[in-house]
Amino acid sequence: MTDTSNYIEGLTGSWEIVMGLEIHAQVVSNSKLFSGAPTEFGAEQNTQVSLVDAALPGMLPVINEKCVEQAVRTGLGLKAQVNLRSVFDRKNYFYPDLPQGYQISQFKYPIIGEGIVEIDLSNGDTKDVRIERLHLEQDAGKSLHDQHPSMSFVDLNRSGVALMEIVSMPDMRSAEEAQAFVKKIRAILRYLGTCDGNMEQGSMRADVNVSVRRPGDELGTRCEIKNVNSIRFIGQAIEYEARRQVEVIEDGGTIKQETRLFDSKAGVTRSMRSKEEAHDYRYFPDPDLLPLVFTQEYVDAIAATLPELPDDKKARFVSEYGLSIYDAGVLVSEKARAEFFEDVAKGRDAKMASNWVTGEFFGALNKAGLAIDTSPVSAKQLGALIELIKDDTISGRIAKDVFEIMFETGDDPAKIVEEKGLRQVTDLGAIEAAIDEVMAANPDKVQQAIEKPKMVGWFVGQVMKATSGKANPQAVNKLLAAKFPPLAED
Ligand code: MN
Repeated sequence: MTDTSNYIEGLTGSWEIVMGLEIHAQVVSNSKLFSGAPTEFGAEQNTQVSLVDAALPGMLPVINEKCVEQAVRTGLGLKAQVNLRSVFDRKNYFYPDLPQGYQISQFKYPIIGEGIVEIDLSNGDTKDVRIERLHLEQDAGKSLHDQHPSMSFVDLNRSGVALMEIVSMPDMRSAEEAQAFVKKIRAILRYLGTCDGNMEQGSMRADVNVSVRRPGDELGTRCEIKNVNSIRFIGQAIEYEARRQVEVIEDGGTIKQETRLFDSKAGVTRSMRSKEEAHDYRYFPDPDLLPLVFTQEYVDAIAATLPELPDDKKARFVSEYGLSIYDAGVLVSEKARAEFFEDVAKGRDAKMASNWVTGEFFGALNKAGLAIDTSPVSAKQLGALIELIKDDTISGRIAKDVFEIMFETGDDPAKIVEEKGLRQVTDLGAIEAAIDEVMAANPDKVQQAIEKPKMVGWFVGQVMKATSGKANPQAVNKLLAAKFPPLAED
């Protein structure tokens, strides 16, 4: 059966969207790819610029071994071919923020070859997306047009910062798949510690190649949407661009291969430059740099330090903790989430831990606009709350109130339970007294409940109310059943 759910319906029939992505990911390293200048984000303009980054005459690039290691690490995480020999090329073009007049990149011989990434879709399915390559290259500086009414400035802090360009095959067929791909790449890079994945700060950005075709046809002409810097915008840009292309073709036009920009305010893509003006970059091997050559032992040593990656972690959460694939997927989607969950679950009821972390905890963080590392409730505190439920100190219902107070105050759950007197009443005598009181006050309801056993639920509610929700619900049910024999016979 053909799945058509991802097709666009045009006036003349169905169209399939085809996408490939190029992701630029800034390498986590203290210094730049070919210089010792620092790479910290947010530094004052032009304070992290060495003579190499400013391309003063006679300066020579020196490869940063840490960046090479990070690229190899990433290649291994993408289950990709690590090339023991790669070559740095000059990609020649003029731009005011590129003082060298060329970017040092890798063209014919990248450091990483073909790999594979499994993406997770919202319906629970997974899909493999092939990686074509990953190469190392320098970032450019940044032109500043808003500092002076008649002049532009340039900030070279980013000039020479190491980037990994990760290129996928055109394997994606919907905006959701493209978004899932970026999410997965970001998760893998964060697990590996090779890129912080901060899209708002520009340390990860995507170029999206979009084309449309009749299902089963050859690939159509593609347009490249440059530098999209959020997962939401990637979705919006694709939806808009695919519709635009369908309309052009259905109107009898043809798609021109071109580079486009996504205007996130207007929600549209606009032409930036067409193929006719496209650059001939005149790549050639950089004569200042030797080919990059390392041994298999070097690669193996890095492989030995790889952490558990999201897919493996997900499988382990399912088998070790008995979680559903969906919950495991939610928990491993970010390294910090997985770590928090495991801290809560350690030595406790893992399913309960998963429910609390994915339910109340993520819900509260979301509502407060906080991240795990700024959460007022620690994993240890949430674990302690779960223990209080487990040993019947409080009911699950009261625990939700306690959690709310924990989130507001940052206090330990035991302290809140003591101070507010929330300890669950398990004293059967006290519960029975409460039941008798409610029954004595409502003889009509007692009569109804004898006739209609369903009415007993009303008493459960009244008893819970009378005990401020502190009565142990199981005990209440058991004692009520004894008071209404027809119920006990069921
Ligand atoms: Mn690039």
